[in-house]
Amino acid sequence: MQYHPTSLWMSSLTDNQSTTSRDPLEQDIDVDVAIIGAGYSGLWTAYYLKQAAPELSIAILEAHQVGFGASGRNGGWLMGAIDGEDSLLDALSLEEKLRARKIIHGIVDEANRVFQKESIDCDFSHGGYLSMAARYPEQLSRAQASLKEYRADGYDEDDIRWLDAEEARSRLKLRNTYGALFSPHTARIHPGKLVSELARVVEKLGVTIYENSPIIEFPPNLLRTEKAHIKADRTLICTEGFSFHQPQQRRYILPIQSLIIATDPLTDAQWEEIGLQHNETFDDACRLIIYGQRTADNRLVFGSRGTYQFGGQPKARFEDTATEFDAVEALMRDCLPQLGSTPAPHRWGGTLGMPRAGAAHAIFDRQSGIGTIGNYGGEGVGASNLMARTLVDLLLGKESELTQMPWAHYGTLQQHARRWEVEPLRWLGYRAILNTFVYEESVLSNDSSSIWKRRAINGLASAAKKIL
Ligand SMILES: Cc1cc2nc3c(=O)[nH]c(=O)nc-3n(C[C@H](O)[C@H](O)[C@H](O)COP(=O)(O)OP(=O)(O)OC[C@H]3O[C@@H](n4cnc5c(N)ncnc54)[C@H](O)[C@@H]3O)c2cc1C
Repeated sequence: MQYHPTSLWMSSLTDNQSTTSRDPLEQDIDVDVAIIGAGYSGLWTAYYLKQAAPELSIAILEAHQVGFGASGRNGGWLMGAIDGEDSLLDALSLEEKLRARKIIHGIVDEANRVFQKESIDCDFSHGGYLSMAARYPEQLSRAQASLKEYRADGYDEDDIRWLDAEEARSRLKLRNTYGALFSPHTARIHPGKLVSELARVVEKLGVTIYENSPIIEFPPNLLRTEKAHIKADRTLICTEGFSFHQPQQRRYILPIQSLIIATDPLTDAQWEEIGLQHNETFDDACRLIIYGQRTADNRLVFGSRGTYQFGGQPKARFEDTATEFDAVEALMRDCLPQLGSTPAPHRWGGTLGMPRAGAAHAIFDRQSGIGTIGNYGGEGVGASNLMARTLVDLLLGKESELTQMPWAHYGTLQQHARRWEVEPLRWLGYRAILNTFVYEESVLSNDSSSIWKRRAINGLASAAKKIL
């Protein structure tokens, strides 16, 4: 078993795919804009800022290396969607909602436009997204209920459509497939290539990236690393699930771990048996949140949302979580028995940021010059692109379509986000809900479970889901 220090994505980058190591900040600097964090949020922000205002001097300060955070570790779904989108857009008129959705769905095309323009090769494949109803009958009613909600909210057949069992199986043969929802608004990418290529592109535009340079004091006080001070007119905090170490941010974002495994490359015959001929990304309607993709080198990458550390510490190394990885592997093999004994030797995990309420946001305080983007709830690969564009417009004081959107705010994080409960309440709450989902999964995927037990646990888990 190979436990990757960051991920298989980052370990498999070749030299010409920008695995460059960069110098730390050793001396004081004076820049127009300082960006903290070299994940997608920081890098997309630097990119769009340089496009709009090339004269600005920009430095990115990264505690470890480019892509050390979730951006170098994720499942590679580039989504034209925002987690919590429905409640975010709820107060808008139908016309405004449609306009906002067009922007959100347009994330995939906008990202691809930049990939083409900047020659970013990140295994982009626009195959859409399959949400399967499979393995146990309760998934069928869940998927159909969620289709009803989409329709009530104005999503049409071009956004999301129902595939009957046969159509669904022609795309992906999960065990006991009953049907699936299909949306075209997602693309598959290689996360490591994307984050390292973005770094290469912004450096070419004149942005300086300092690695191994953790910020230990944040504005509104000083901005500094252990060795140097940074004087900046504007400071953008792009640390998402790693915001724990910042006194102003730590109560607003919960660091949650997600675990991923990858098989060895599968043969063409195996892929014939499984499907995903168009590189669709997929999940199923179980509440543990699974996600999968077929990589460009023909592996199956499969992940599941996981643990929460008491006190909300982010986590970067996962060698100590063998039991949880075994559970993820069992889930993958339950979904796809066709895998047989094909080894899945690669394991890694990462930390994502979960908001207490609401959805992704871009916030800029004109008085202090401090801005932030994040709150992605585990769906930041695409959302970071949109939030970065929005933050740039806010920072430059542009009146744009993006700054009119409900995710754009002037002011402070404290004004626009909700705080998590104090410990041990949030640890107890999170563990209780997660354990309910794990127990539900074991009952529902066991064909011989009695009806009353299935109903009871299904009801309990539905109630638990509403709390999250
Ligand atoms: C296992 C996993 C699977 C996921 N799968 C998907 C998916 O398929 N699709 C999707 O849309 N989303 C997915 N996500 C979520 C997505 O990866 C994140 O939302 C996104 O990458 C966040 O990017 P970011 O740049 O905001 O944060 P990060 O990539 O976490 O970057 C933050 C950076 O800030 C740095 N930093 C922190 N503190 C400091 C400091 N004090 N000084 C300097 N630097 C600092 C960190 O080292 C880190 O590099 C997944 C997340 C995980 C963990």
